[in-house]
Amino acid sequence: MIALEKLTKVYGQGPSAVTVLDNLDFSVAAGEIFAVVGPSGAGKSTLAQCVNLLERPTSGSVVVNGENLSSLSEEKLRIARRRIGTIFQSDGLFSRRTAAANVALPLSYLGVTARESKKRVAELLDRVGLTSRSNYYPHELSGGQRQRVGIARALALRPTILLADEATSGLDPESTTSITTLLKELRDDLGLSILFITHEMETVLKVADSVARLDHGHIVESGRVVDLLRDASSPLGRALNPVRV
Ligand code: ATP
Ligand code: MG
Repeated sequence: MIALEKLTKVYGQGPSAVTVLDNLDFSVAAGEIFAVVGPSGAGKSTLAQCVNLLERPTSGSVVVNGENLSSLSEEKLRIARRRIGTIFQSDGLFSRRTAAANVALPLSYLGVTARESKKRVAELLDRVGLTSRSNYYPHELSGGQRQRVGIARALALRPTILLADEATSGLDPESTTSITTLLKELRDDLGLSILFITHEMETVLKVADSVARLDHGHIVESGRVVDLLRDASSPLGRALNPVRV
């Protein structure tokens, strides 16, 4: 479970200060996919960076499974971050390592034994449907496959939270579906709280349980996708409806 409480991020100081996130309040339950949409510059990536505390919020809290991460020391934060898996638009894989070696990386940092690591990597690649590609290098994989390796790696330390910033942007519809289907399986099987940042309404419709629209650092509208779709007065509902085929 992720809970944001009055989360505010200001870049710069004095007259040049810019409030990029302004008093955000929302939560993502275990077993929920929560999408955040909004135009370029709205603050979506800043939000993702604040949730895993790569950026320190200016004020407010980020609470993960009941623990306020914003008040932790760097050392405790490093441990707490293991509970948060992150996937980005660019898969961030190491090009000179095979799929299996990429997934093994977080385990090696923790000193997991080779035998244990091998077993866990095999489980993870099986979960993302890439057992047959274990020994392939990133350039031998499709964009969607690389993104799934990235997801397997993000799951290596058994996180309870998954942050996805534009994880499907730039992928073709089939690859996007393979990612959204996987994320829904992870939500259901592992009870993950998934914060899914995107600017694609079609993908929101495919994957999200709830959605919030961010504009200039404010949440201007939010709700459950099923409810919004039925609400003719909702701009989000209207934006979601035409993409339904
Ligand atoms: P996109 O859809 O293009 O990815 P976004 O919604 O992810 O956009 P952010 O990257 O969060 O937008 O940026 C929001 C605003 O914060 C922008 O105006 C940007 O210039 C500003 N910003 C982001 N990072 C910094 C930084 N490190 N220092 C100063 N300003 C920043
Ligand atoms: Mg962004």
